[in-house]
Amino acid sequence: MDAQRTLRRQISCVGIGLHSGNKVNLTLKPAPADYGIRFRRTDLGDLEVPADVRNLAGIQLATGLARNEVSVETVEHLLAALVSTSIDNVIVELNSPEVPIMDGSAAPFIYLIQEAGVKTMAVARKYLKIIRPIAISRGDKRIALYPSDHFKVTYSISYDHPLLRHQSRTLRITEESFIEEVAPARTFTFLKDVEMLRQNGLALGGSLENAIVLGETGVLNNALRFEDEFVRHKILDAVGDLALVGHPVIGHLVAHRAGHALHTEFAAKILEETQAWRLVEAPVEGVTPLPVTLPVKDAARLAN
Ligand SMILES: [Zn+2]
Repeated sequence: MDAQRTLRRQISCVGIGLHSGNKVNLTLKPAPADYGIRFRRTDLGDLEVPADVRNLAGIQLATGLARNEVSVETVEHLLAALVSTSIDNVIVELNSPEVPIMDGSAAPFIYLIQEAGVKTMAVARKYLKIIRPIAISRGDKRIALYPSDHFKVTYSISYDHPLLRHQSRTLRITEESFIEEVAPARTFTFLKDVEMLRQNGLALGGSLENAIVLGETGVLNNALRFEDEFVRHKILDAVGDLALVGHPVIGHLVAHRAGHALHTEFAAKILEETQAWRLVEAPVEGVTPLPVTLPVKDAARLAN
C-alpha cells in the first residue's frame, strides 16, 4: 500500500489576496489520517471548509469553496502543490477569504511543504482509478479522463494572440515532474481584461509580480519561465481543481481550452459516474490494485 502523508510540522507565510489586495496569513498544519485537506478561517472562529467538490462556490477567475457562512477563494494553486507532493491530510489556516496569490504559481507552496517536511502515516491512501472514460464538452471546450496506469495530463490551449495561438503538452504527473515542470508556471491574463477586472473591483492585488500579463503582441513581464509557461499553468490549474474529488486520480486527463468552470464541473461529474472508477490502494505498475471497500464517508458522498 501507499501510506497517507501529512506535514511534519506547521509552517506559515504571508502574501496578498489577488482580489482584495489585502495581506493574508497562511499556515499549513499537520492533520490526522483521513482528515483530508480543509481550509480553516481563523478570522471566523476557526470554521472550516473541506476541499471537496460539494463545497464549490463562485468560479470566476479562480476556484472558490464555501460551506455555510464560510468561504475561501483561489484554492487551486495550493491544492495542486498539496496533491502533487502527496500531502493527503492538512489544515490550511487563513485569516482572510483568499489564499495568497504569492507569485501566481505553485512554487512558493512547494517551498513551504518542503520546509515543513513530510510525515508518513500508518493508514493507506486511496486512489480514484479510472476504469472507463468520462468526458464532457461545452462548445469547443472539452475535458475527459481515460484509464491509464499513471496520472497523466494532456492539455491544449489556443487563443487569438500571437504568443499563444496553440500550445499543447502531455506530462506524467509525479512529485518530481510537477515540481520541476509545472509548479513554477505562473497564471496569465490579458491586459485588456485587467482594466475590466479593476473596474469591477477585482484583481486589486494583481500585478506583474504575480501574473504574466499579455499585451497586444507580447508579455509585459521581463521574461517567461518556460517558453510554453501558459499551457503548463493550465496543467497546474487542472491538477488543483481535480483535487476536489478528494482522492489522487489515476488516469489520463485530456483537456482542450478548458478552465476552472469546466474543470470543476468535470470534478463533480467524476464523483457521479461511479461505474467509471474504483478506489484502490496501489496504483503502481505491475501491482494488481486491490479493490477497497467504500468507507461510510465516501458512500455518503456518492449518495449526494
Ligand atoms: Zn491558475
